[in-house]
Amino acid sequence: MMKIPFLRPSLVRKEKWAYYLTQIDESRIYSNYGPLNNRFERRVLQQHFGGQGAVTTVNNATTGLMLAISQSRRRGGKYALMPSFTFPATPLAAIWCGLIPYFVDIRPDDWCMDEELLEQVLKKLGDQVAVVVPYAVFGTDLKLDTYRQLHRNGIPVVVDAASSFGTTGEKGQFGCGFPGMVVFSFHATKSFGIGEGGLVYSGNPSLVDEVRQAGNFGFSPDREVTMQGLNSKMSEYVAAIALATLDAFPKKRSTIERVVQWYKEQFQQHHLFHQGWRYQETKGRVTPQFLSVLCPADQSNQEIVNQLHGRGIEARTYFSPSCHQHRQFQSCPRTALSVTHHIAGRILSLPLWEELTVEHIRFIVGGVSTNDRRHHLGVRGARERGLSDL
Ligand SMILES: *Cc1c(COP(=O)(O)O)cnc(C)c1O
Repeated sequence: MMKIPFLRPSLVRKEKWAYYLTQIDESRIYSNYGPLNNRFERRVLQQHFGGQGAVTTVNNATTGLMLAISQSRRRGGKYALMPSFTFPATPLAAIWCGLIPYFVDIRPDDWCMDEELLEQVLKKLGDQVAVVVPYAVFGTDLKLDTYRQLHRNGIPVVVDAASSFGTTGEKGQFGCGFPGMVVFSFHATKSFGIGEGGLVYSGNPSLVDEVRQAGNFGFSPDREVTMQGLNSKMSEYVAAIALATLDAFPKKRSTIERVVQWYKEQFQQHHLFHQGWRYQETKGRVTPQFLSVLCPADQSNQEIVNQLHGRGIEARTYFSPSCHQHRQFQSCPRTALSVTHHIAGRILSLPLWEELTVEHIRFIVGGVSTNDRRHHLGVRGARERGLSDL
């Protein structure tokens, strides 16, 4: 039986960062925004954001979200408006800041927060809104015009861009120039994976200074604690891997894009779009973490996951359950979440990693198509497609 895991992250190999480790041995600086960390930040700012704004590293995106929300939230506000269709880190970060997540439904095409609905909620809640936290779903180049306007009008916006590092659109790297804060994850399973790590960006450097200070226990330059800080610093060892990953990223990205292209071709060849399968309508050049697709409305994504499992293919359903369906968030206020429910019932996350071949993708897509599932003949079905040796 062919075994295809959901993810097989492959981070840069140690030979690629050995050179940087030697520098740590020499500098004997191991953390606290050391030379490698600062070199990484400078390179990211230049190469990805064209030198516009500022960045600071964090030890992961969850801490980055906590710091960004805590530094920008309106005092007196109590709600953090966000989609339920996101990773639980988004509402958890708000709760750690003493806020109540308020879930807003999403749009059916790009699966991002519905901005018209958000407008209504903002009107209804008024001063009770502390912060708005949109999520750029699965790395799409979400248009930020509405959020830029909100932020300028005094409603702070923190963008959860956990899956968007490397996403480029008309304005270059996603988030470039945005006046609020934009938080990226470098977790091993993200497109720019370094193990654990993240980055907070803003077009407004003074916001980034605040996050950086809060991430170092809130110490002011004369070492007085002046804010509710914590420790979010990235060690020099992680910065070494991050620097090596910057070098390796363009190749990694094009390898993943090739696999994504094979998926699209196979979906077309199996006529799945005619049968009601739907892709997310993404914008910009995206390097996804996994392949997200909606099954036809009359099928159950969970059944397809089980079906694939029987063929040795590991699939998931991100983000189903959605956040409001987790016990921790069940009591959080929300709008009607009918689109979220609809998408969560159909979402299927398929394997994506660099060594997947076109034969693998043919086998996976064959496994999801109704036709092939009806002829679930095991060995014979596989042999017919010339895959018995895989
Ligand atoms: C991965 C992810 C996070 C958390 O990132 P970490 O770096 O693992 O803390 C937050 N939000 C979303 C949408 C994510 O996908």
